[in-house]
Amino acid sequence: MEWDLILVGAGLANGLIAWRLKQARPELTILVIEQSKTAGGNHTWSFHHHDLSAGQHQWIAPLISHRWPGYDVLFPQLTRGIDQDYYTIFSDRFARKLTEALGEHLWLDCPVTALTPQSVQLQSGETLTARAVIDGRGQGDVTSSRNAWQCFVGQEWRLAQPHGLTRPRLMDATVAQCDAYRFFYLLPLSPDCVLIEDTRFSNLPMRDTTEYRAAIEEYATAHGWTLDTLLREEAGCLPLTLSGSAPQSEAWHQPLSGMRAGLFHAVTGYSLPLAVQLADAVAGLDVIDAPHLASLTRTMAARQWRRQGFFRLLNRMLFLAGKPNNRWRVMQRFYALPDDTIARFYAGDLTLCDKARLLTGKPPVPVFQALRAAFYTGNES
Ligand SMILES: Cc1cc2nc3c(=O)[nH]c(=O)nc-3n(C[C@H](O)[C@H](O)[C@H](O)COP(=O)(O)OP(=O)(O)OC[C@H]3O[C@@H](n4cnc5c(N)ncnc54)[C@H](O)[C@@H]3O)c2cc1C
Repeated sequence: MEWDLILVGAGLANGLIAWRLKQARPELTILVIEQSKTAGGNHTWSFHHHDLSAGQHQWIAPLISHRWPGYDVLFPQLTRGIDQDYYTIFSDRFARKLTEALGEHLWLDCPVTALTPQSVQLQSGETLTARAVIDGRGQGDVTSSRNAWQCFVGQEWRLAQPHGLTRPRLMDATVAQCDAYRFFYLLPLSPDCVLIEDTRFSNLPMRDTTEYRAAIEEYATAHGWTLDTLLREEAGCLPLTLSGSAPQSEAWHQPLSGMRAGLFHAVTGYSLPLAVQLADAVAGLDVIDAPHLASLTRTMAARQWRRQGFFRLLNRMLFLAGKPNNRWRVMQRFYALPDDTIARFYAGDLTLCDKARLLTGKPPVPVFQALRAAFYTGNES
């Protein structure tokens, strides 16, 4: 049989495309192929209210695990609450919903060894054909760009007592700094369950997770919490682009999705808002075949690369100017900006006025180094 569409990888981006198409284009025959035993991996995917449009909120709603009416940030000289909704999708719920929607058209434990825009080869040796194949196998090669890294370990704990948090603490940067910008990220999941994440914005990728685990325990103790049961752990090391060239698929006619297409925010490493946009764009195509999908994903990736230019500039100023243990000053200054600017920053949709706000005022890093970092473009193209 020839499928209308095969999605390789049942991660965030392809999962959202499949979910959206099942609602908007139920006539299509879609197959999703995943190498692991479950779809979605082991993640908590969070996003801000203004990252998505009203229509997007509507179709993604069944996948949401938690919604809070705002969040807090803590810095040595600033504590602030932001009353804008914040959402989290847990990958186990995502996997359940995707399985319900796709039924026998979600093939798990099935590694793909090779693919083309219209065919897929399985490890079993079988070859499948489709009008289009989307490669959503996660992060590809990042060596064509200069990157810093967002490294984190998050642990979901049941505590021996209520934690007392009512909403997420997106950044608690009052902790000891190191050779990175370091903060804790907390998601209260029930009165006595909390995700505690030690995060570092570092020039180097993560080498070892042991130190992060010990730091989580220390943080809990310092807050008077007794860790009772470890429910889950996740870890990540996301590239934060400083400079480089637009992602080049070696076969630029191959439709790509998610991180593989370079569709992520350069400063946060997050990809959910762009994955949602891509899912909507795919569902809106008149003709779903390889040339149309390749053209769509190529255009979107190129456009995003241009739009992310300002965020790469901010990354250069964050990672190349000043001392790593002073990076919190840049973030503290950012969180003193108006709510709307912060919302547009996360949505990757800054106005000229926002950009001016971000760059003017007394810089929290040495001026000369900031200028040198700003004008450093490496192999930027
Ligand atoms: C722990 C963690 C937490 C994150 N939290 C957030 C967040 O809160 N918000 C946010 O926006 N972003 C977050 N990110 C960043 C980013 O959005 C995620 O990495 C996201 O999952 C990327 O989506 P993707 O679809 O590109 O890749 P993935 O979700 O990684 O999916 C790729 C899939 O392809 C499968 N695959 C790979 N090779 C093959 C093969 N040969 N055959 C078959 N299947 C294959 C993989 O097993 C995987 O399931 C997080 C990342 C990590 C690692």
